[in-house]
Amino acid sequence: MIDRARLAALHRREEERFAESHPGSGARVGPAAAHLLGGVPMNWMARWPGRFPVFAAEAQGAHLVDVDGNEYIDFCLGDTGAMTGHAPPASVAAIAEQAGRGLSMMLPTDDAIAVGDELARRFGLPFWQIATSATDANRFALRLARQVTGRQKILAFNWCYHGTVDETLVTLAADGRSVAREGHLGPPVDPSLTTAVVEFNDVEALERELSTGEIAVVIAEPVMTNIGIIHPDPGYHDALRRITRETATLLLIDETHTFCAGPGGYTREHGLEPDLFTIGKPIAGGLPAGAYGMTAAVAERVHDLVTGPDSDVAGIGGTLAGNALTLAAIRATLADVLTDDAFAHMLPLGQRWADGVQGVIDEHDVPWSVTRLGARAEYWFAPERPRNGGEAAAGIDHELDAFMHLSALNRGILLTPFHNMALMSPATTEADVDHHTDVFAAAVAELLSP
Ligand code: PMP
Repeated sequence: MIDRARLAALHRREEERFAESHPGSGARVGPAAAHLLGGVPMNWMARWPGRFPVFAAEAQGAHLVDVDGNEYIDFCLGDTGAMTGHAPPASVAAIAEQAGRGLSMMLPTDDAIAVGDELARRFGLPFWQIATSATDANRFALRLARQVTGRQKILAFNWCYHGTVDETLVTLAADGRSVAREGHLGPPVDPSLTTAVVEFNDVEALERELSTGEIAVVIAEPVMTNIGIIHPDPGYHDALRRITRETATLLLIDETHTFCAGPGGYTREHGLEPDLFTIGKPIAGGLPAGAYGMTAAVAERVHDLVTGPDSDVAGIGGTLAGNALTLAAIRATLADVLTDDAFAHMLPLGQRWADGVQGVIDEHDVPWSVTRLGARAEYWFAPERPRNGGEAAAGIDHELDAFMHLSALNRGILLTPFHNMALMSPATTEADVDHHTDVFAAAVAELLSP
């Protein structure tokens, strides 16, 4: 349906436009590459569309300005790290205030008590610890699960992403074995030793793997969001919980992205009952932070080990984790930024974004689809939504992805680089969303014009 030669020509034109309109970013490529590996401080920053990274100057709310003065509506929002909108005033004020009173003391502050209370109220799990990132929260929660169950292996879903956690950087090979995910650098051991992998929404495979009695914990995004948005089939979460309980396997729900479903995440929206729960990214308004929660039953089993004389080498925590600055930021962000009212604003915008894209798909009768999870929505270049990671990975169209991202960027729209995904913040407006619809419509019309 898409003329590939035309697509390639349009992409070349967009590359030229990008280079012309980003001279300041272009001029920074050489100096940046002098001492930063790949010219960026963190390797993912090289994954954006365009021949070189856009250097950011500043960002406020849902808008970002680059060093050339180009303005963008930011639907990437730091891949969820800035779901609060950039520089949310309440978080910034709390950070500024605490920064003058000590950043990191390795002692609890009053903010910690308030944060524990709020995490328990929102997400329903009674006991919490703070980590430096969602990755760390996942690592620590997996460790606790192994400790509690006395089992070494975990189960993860094919094409999942839970941060730079070795046990989860795995995919399912054709012969059913777990293999290191393509691109995973230096896996410490053969992943089949640490991890069983099954497809999301496959109850039979889950039953088969958990019946071995070897699995400590299932780690799951309640809706997959890192290989497209993949919703659970009706009844899937009930089956997951039933089978994990029957086999004395713990269930870890990672809400780092699915927090966009509502103020208490997907877990509260859908009444899930995880044993362990992890979150990170926006909870501190954009400052690094993660948190993990657990049931009373898990807490009871680990309490003495975690707080005992060897707690500093337990393999959880870290010098800077739970520092005063982070706690002040989490407290303010949860109390005043990611509020019920904020979600009441964000969710309809997610719907508006999806409706806008769907309208264009219908108008041109292209065999594409769009799906939404709360304040997040995504389009997909196939009529049927994939039901699992394997199907999703097989359906990715890298050429089309690259063109849609770059043409959007050149017209003032930032989408998450690894996905055709948009996230709404409390500061995003209907006009922002409608601008995306217009840009999307123009790109599709151009792609299809004879
Ligand atoms: N869990 C999920 C579901 C994620 O999507 C990510 C990051 N994309 C992480 C954990 C890790 O977050 P971080 O990179 O901030 O540690």
